[in-house]
Amino acid sequence: MTIRTHLLATVTGACALPAFADVSIYTTRQPELIQPVMDAFTAETGIAVNLAFVNEGLIERLTAEGARSPADLVMTVDIANMQRVVDSGTVQPVDSQVLLDAVPANLRSADNTWFGLTTRARIVYASKERVAEGEITTYEDLADPKWKGRICTRSGLHDYNLALLSAYIAHHGEEEAKVWAQGLKDNLAKKPEGNDRAQVKSIWAGECDISLGNTYYMGQMLADPEQVEWADSVSIRFPTFEDGGTHVNISGIAMTQSAPNKEEALQLMEFLVSPEAQAIYAEENNEYPVLPSAARSDLVQGWGDFTVDDIDLTEVAGHRAAALRIMEEVNFDG
Ligand code: FE
Repeated sequence: MTIRTHLLATVTGACALPAFADVSIYTTRQPELIQPVMDAFTAETGIAVNLAFVNEGLIERLTAEGARSPADLVMTVDIANMQRVVDSGTVQPVDSQVLLDAVPANLRSADNTWFGLTTRARIVYASKERVAEGEITTYEDLADPKWKGRICTRSGLHDYNLALLSAYIAHHGEEEAKVWAQGLKDNLAKKPEGNDRAQVKSIWAGECDISLGNTYYMGQMLADPEQVEWADSVSIRFPTFEDGGTHVNISGIAMTQSAPNKEEALQLMEFLVSPEAQAIYAEENNEYPVLPSAARSDLVQGWGDFTVDDIDLTEVAGHRAAALRIMEEVNFDG
């Protein structure tokens, strides 16, 4: 029961219908990352938020539940996952000038089905000792033979690397992207293995000098006593595409096709792009707010400013199949 429901029940002295329904969210993100911003929403509006953590089978669940789904909203990470949700036909467009004004056009869908809430950049972690400031400026440069035997990365088939290669395709086309993927592979110090943090550990251990990784992992490593020395051995460098900016991906939100509480769900979506909510939500996972005017956490701001690549993420998602094929053709993980 919400605060307002309590009030209403007291005033009427009867078992009245709630003035505001709760909002239910299916999320593939860890609920503890989302809870603080939802608490802020409930404090401001009196609308309770139910979070259901759906680790796998989100689309299957939404499809099976159909019109009877209790979910009003879905939250996912990575444009490929969001695009799969959209393609499944289980979400609907929302009409909101607030959302259009807050979220930059490249970080939301053109048909108003999904909206980015936070971003993370896919950057280069570089050894403080072995890589000079300014030595890495572009993604294209990572295929240069000067890096031979010096680069570590997780699997080329992972969503994060497929999105980066998809963005490369968006900038340069499939042919050049394949040459780049081959060049990057030729520069690897070892076979792709482990997650983004494992690559930083490899830099710390002297096995390679630079790695690909998402920005928020720096925050996670710094918060882990075992990993803090890995983090201290590297600095974040923001490469750009030669004709663009730094590749980012999103965490995002969409309204389900069947949303039982459409009005409250929209209210929550709009709250989530307010400066206050943006700062809370982004800080929780060391991400960047999508709202340009929202405050970044001190830690995140300390990594420096960069130019976000302005390629539309929907276009990036559209190149995923080609990116996957290229990774397989160059046998990136082999
Ligand atoms: Fe991650």
